[in-house]
Amino acid sequence: MPFAIMAGIMKFLKKAMDSFTREAQWILIGLASAAVICVLGVILTTCSRDRHVEEDETAPPPPEEDLLAPVRPEPDQFRVNTYMPNRREGETSGSIELGTFSPGRDLVYVDDERVWWESDNDKGDTEDDHSMHQAMVLPLRRLIEMVAGNSATLKVQDAYRPSGVHSRRSLHLEGRALDLTCDDLGLEKLAKLCWAAGFDWVYYESKAGGPHVHVSVQRTQKNGSSVAAK
Ligand SMILES: [Zn+2]
Repeated sequence: MPFAIMAGIMKFLKKAMDSFTREAQWILIGLASAAVICVLGVILTTCSRDRHVEEDETAPPPPEEDLLAPVRPEPDQFRVNTYMPNRREGETSGSIELGTFSPGRDLVYVDDERVWWESDNDKGDTEDDHSMHQAMVLPLRRLIEMVAGNSATLKVQDAYRPSGVHSRRSLHLEGRALDLTCDDLGLEKLAKLCWAAGFDWVYYESKAGGPHVHVSVQRTQKNGSSVAAK
């Protein structure tokens, strides 16, 4: 049956071709060849695009979970009013340089519903505790995972603060410091987790503004700041 249809079509085409002049026949053959080449081109392009999609689907997913795993072991102890490493904050995290700091370029907004944010709960506050330097994001995200893993609630008491309670040299002025407390977890344990999470400088502080853990970071994060952009 298909053979009969093909034969019919061929017969029709031959009859049609016979009715054209020789020049018209060549033009028709040229047009037909161009059409065949176009169709082949479309088919080949689609196939290669499909193959790319398949390749992308088989590519391994980004190692997001690895980035959120602790980067250091927890220290055995973390005494109150001590810091790690045992050097001054400016030597470790880098002193403040407001001349090179740009809030619009350097600060990012971080949110996580498992965290208690002080500025969300104190409506008299003018600062925003979600606002911090982008280098802060990855260690903070690790810490959030670790604190949640201990069935506790992390509390961000202070983050970027361009003016107010902190000293003139405070890294809070660049958003490179956080003040943290925790529900259902002692502050010593929180300080240990902060160290494991990869903050560059961790200070279990009881002198200024009530006991809390102050953490700070260098401007450039060493381990995967690409997560920070998400
Ligand atoms: Zn602080």
